[in-house]
Order: sequence, then structure tokens, then C-alpha cells
Amino acid sequence: MALPRYAIGLDVGGTKIAAGVTDAHGEVITKLEPRPCPAAEQDAVLTAVLDVIEELRSLHGPATDDGGIAAIGVGAAGLVDWPQGRIRTAPNSGYRDVPLRALLQAATGLPTVVDNDANTACWAEYRLGHRASYMAFLTVGTGVGGGVVLADRLFRGSSGIGTEIGHMIVDPYGSERCGCGTVGCLESLASGTALGRYGAAAAALDPGGKLATLAGGASRVTGETVSTAAVQDDPTALAQLERLGHWLGIGIATLVNLFDLQLIVLGGGAAQAGDPLLKPVRTSFERFVTARSHRDLPDIVPARLGTDAGWIGAALLALERQ
Ligand SMILES: [Zn+2]
Repeated sequence: MALPRYAIGLDVGGTKIAAGVTDAHGEVITKLEPRPCPAAEQDAVLTAVLDVIEELRSLHGPATDDGGIAAIGVGAAGLVDWPQGRIRTAPNSGYRDVPLRALLQAATGLPTVVDNDANTACWAEYRLGHRASYMAFLTVGTGVGGGVVLADRLFRGSSGIGTEIGHMIVDPYGSERCGCGTVGCLESLASGTALGRYGAAAAALDPGGKLATLAGGASRVTGETVSTAAVQDDPTALAQLERLGHWLGIGIATLVNLFDLQLIVLGGGAAQAGDPLLKPVRTSFERFVTARSHRDLPDIVPARLGTDAGWIGAALLALERQ
């Protein structure tokens, strides 16, 4: 029988660090409470990451014949070279061109992988949630991120920075400028942030309505407010989710047209709205996918792992060196 091998997984985001330890099957052995990530300062992030690693290593001990920590995996927000694990740049952070993988290997002596956080979350959904050989994972939160699995491998492009699904151009003649500087990115129209913007505009026209009441004022409406109101069948909130679903469906249709995918998994905060979002996504997808009557249409399903997917997938990648 194979000896247990454990990996530390970390999800280093713009605001917090989530981390824990899994075995090679993705079984969670230990999970830490998420802690703040001082993303504005590169050195502070490194210190915080190393603190988390040391804490988990002290709980589990070194790798021995009986098990212990054998590897480290990190999912990091931003553009990450693969397999070098160098973070080229990241939104809302102070780090630029950080050789994170090399730094962590030198500091810990453990084999380490560093990948984009949406890729690691995609890998966890693939390994533990759905297991379709050709699938895409979209996370709809502050932004829109994602990963693509082709022939049971994460597809990363030539250098690692591929599958930036949120920056697929869907409306170049629109008015919304994305954080990346381009007009018409999927992220600027289909993120949780966009949902909040749609909701705030709708609430401003209906100051006594459910959205404004729930949020304590039209200008305070967020994507979460809209999702909450939609669950309570508020027609204004449902209309905003339809708008979001329209754009997401266009993005998903393009992914399916390109890659002939078997499954689409939707994660992130906005996806927690469930059917009020999934139904319009499906309608839009079926409208825009090509050769609709000549193909098996993939299912579009909610993610199974929630907010732990990023660090669990990173730990799995570390043990598998995918
Ligand atoms: Zn963009």
C-alpha cells in the first residue's frame, strides 16, 4: 500500500490567503482559517505565505516514510508563468515579476508549484467534482476568471498565461472599460462587480424597491444584494441576473465553439444565485453556440467545492506535478 503523501496548498488572493493540507486524493487533512493577505507589499506577502507554510509544517512534520508534507502548491491571482511559477503581474497587488516558486523552494526545501488561482480551482473541480475530460471552469466573482481542461490536462497556453476567460472580448462597441484597459471584456459585463453595477442602476430608478431596501440605499447595492433578492423572487433582481447570464452565455458559447467542451462549471460568489442565473446562461448559450442541432450540448453546472477549490487544487497539482 502506498504511503500517505501530503501537500500544503495555498490560495493567495488579493485580500486573503486560504490554506490547508490534503492527501493525494484531495482529502482535506487540515484547513486553516483564511487570513488577510497584505497584497500591496510584496515582502509582506512572502512573509505571510511562509508563516502559513511553517504553521502547517509544524502541525504535520517533515516528509518521512510515514507520510508528512512532501510538496507545496500555490494558486496565485495574476499572470503566472508555468512551470516557472513566476508571477508577472497581478491586479490590486504590490508584486511585479516575483519568482515565487523559486523563492518558496529555496526557503522551504520542498518541491513547489505555483499556478494561476483560477487554474488551481479548475483542477480541483476537475479532480474532485466533475471529471469531464474536456471542461471549462468559470469563476464569477469580483472579476471573471477560469480554467480549461483539455484531454484531462490543464491547458495553459505556451507560457502559462492562457485561458484568461474574463478578457474574452464580447462587446467591443460597448461602454464598459475593463480593469485591463480594454472595452468589451466579458469581465466588465459578467462579473459580480458588473452585477452590482446593474443592480445599483436599477435600484436608483426604484428607491423603495427590494434591492435598495436590502442594501440600505441604491448606491450600496452589490452583486450579493442582487443574488439575495433574486432568491426572494424579486423581478428587478431576476432581470439583472438575466443580463449577466446573457453575457456569460456568449462567453461560454465561444469556449464551446473553440474547444468542443463536454462540461461547463460555474463557480464564484455570483454563481451561488443558482437557477436564476443558470437558466438565462443556458438560454443565451444555446442561442449563440454554433451548430446547435448537430452537437451534444454540454451541461452547465454549479461548482461543487466552493471557496476551498483554489488551495485544494494547488495541493493536488503539487503532488501530481501536472
Ligand atoms: Zn479585460
